[in-house]
Amino acid sequence: MKLRFWGVRGSIPVPGVGTSRYGGNTSCVEVQADGEAPLVLDCGTGARTLGRVLLSRPERKLHLLFTHFHMDHLFGFPFFAPIFTPTFEVTVTAPTFSPDTTRDRIARYLNGIFHPLRVYEVPGQLSFDAVRPGATLERGPYTIRAVALNHPGGACGYRIDYKGSSAVYITDTAPLSRPGEGVSGGLPPNGREQVLLSLMEGAQAVVFDTMFTHDEYLEKMTWGHAYPEYAVDLCRLAGVRTLYLFHHAPDASDDDLDALAERWAGHTGPQVLLAREGLEVDLEG
Ligand SMILES: [Zn+2]
Ligand SMILES: [Zn+2]
Repeated sequence: MKLRFWGVRGSIPVPGVGTSRYGGNTSCVEVQADGEAPLVLDCGTGARTLGRVLLSRPERKLHLLFTHFHMDHLFGFPFFAPIFTPTFEVTVTAPTFSPDTTRDRIARYLNGIFHPLRVYEVPGQLSFDAVRPGATLERGPYTIRAVALNHPGGACGYRIDYKGSSAVYITDTAPLSRPGEGVSGGLPPNGREQVLLSLMEGAQAVVFDTMFTHDEYLEKMTWGHAYPEYAVDLCRLAGVRTLYLFHHAPDASDDDLDALAERWAGHTGPQVLLAREGLEVDLEG
């Protein structure tokens, strides 16, 4: 199973010379087992490039899974080539209460005002579904488990398992414990952290929202984003092999992110790497 990063930025796309190495596109991650339809996690602006690549492959089916509908995770959807391809089957799943709610929420954006097309008019074969925290889904060959995150308006994190390979996608979220409590305070995990840890348990790769530094988090605790030390502590407790820092701040330049990578270089249990646009990880290895 492969993990590919198509957009790694949080909040707003930031193209430019200062972000060209890590990439300026917003959240879009692909998980794909050999010869199988891909699972696409979020549809930020990184989805535009992914869509063109998907059209060049023979497969005409994909599973799209949203963590939530903030714009940085949705903005690439109306520019995602498979939904304009009549032969493409796209299953769209999001943390809502019903398949109709998933469709209706997307329809608020693709409504003829914010985008020229209405969601009902796209030529691709779209179907919709809903997922709740705690649920297990089967999508093609993938087994997916969902967990509630700590984000304004709610968000779901996911674990994807396929034949002994596992990837976990946790964005967007603030720590699940307050400063000085639970894992944030260097103490045993609280109840919500225990649920998250059981989802992360033994995963080969965890992608985690680390948009803030610890100090920034203390200033913006209600914004719903975490910081690297918290993600590292969770991954250590869950026995995760590699942590990918993700949802980089729009203000973080390539040089800033190099400095962050340098700070965590050589760390083990977990190994800590930065997500970067174009990075492909083989989860079998
Ligand atoms: Zn976001
Ligand atoms: Zn968000």
